[in-house]
Amino acid sequence: MSDRKPYVGGNWKMNTSVDSSSALARGVVDACGSVQGSVDIVVFPPAPYLIGVNSIMRSRPTSIATGAQDLYFEADGAFTGEISVAMVKDCGCGHALAGHSERRHVIGESNELVNAKVRAALEGGLTCVLCIGETLEQRETGQTNAINELQLRTGLADVGLRQMDKVVIAYEPVWAIGTGKTASPEDAQAAHAFIRGLLAEMYSDEVAQRTRIIYGGSVKPSNAASLFAQPDIDGGLIGGASLKIEDFSAIAKAAAS
Ligand code: PEP
Repeated sequence: MSDRKPYVGGNWKMNTSVDSSSALARGVVDACGSVQGSVDIVVFPPAPYLIGVNSIMRSRPTSIATGAQDLYFEADGAFTGEISVAMVKDCGCGHALAGHSERRHVIGESNELVNAKVRAALEGGLTCVLCIGETLEQRETGQTNAINELQLRTGLADVGLRQMDKVVIAYEPVWAIGTGKTASPEDAQAAHAFIRGLLAEMYSDEVAQRTRIIYGGSVKPSNAASLFAQPDIDGGLIGGASLKIEDFSAIAKAAAS
């Protein structure tokens, strides 16, 4: 890992309850205490639990932050079921995911919609984690780089150089998410290096060197260290393992070392 500060996100997806989200938040704060200063740790609870989780974070001396799993790009109005950037901030969050593969492939979000969400999040001052990654079919037909390039370029369309300080890229090969299959450290490194090269082309070498590119896809305590040891892997976006306090804290510790 480089001198970029590692970023480890816990994507709780559509899991937990009022009680279990609070217990998980407390557990994560306690278990991650020792590494908080050296890793940016962010949990992404379901929207209904953001206020509760945030009040737990505020009641403790912790730098662990919270983020929204999704948001809508419009400011307000007749958009039933959607959540605005202002609402996300009002709940106490400073981060948001955009373009998670489940939003793209289960809910059907397009690259253009993802871009509108990225721009809205950044304009609102949030740190935005733009998720990109190829499906198994795309990988097997040799389209990995092309898909990642398309999702990166479209996702960041009209995002200015100065806004890139608030962007984290999550490379998450779809075939590795929630499947127990993990990209090998070498394959993940190759994708991250490719993405960093694109950022240099799109912005500048400096921006490319500063931007955190994190890996997601069945990261566990047993594989975290070898993934995070790669020079272009700056942490992880963690799904299943983020629901287990011990596993999540072990992954955060692996990112810190
Ligand atoms: C994710 O939700 O972004 C993810 C990577 O999930 P998992 O760790 O379960 O594969």
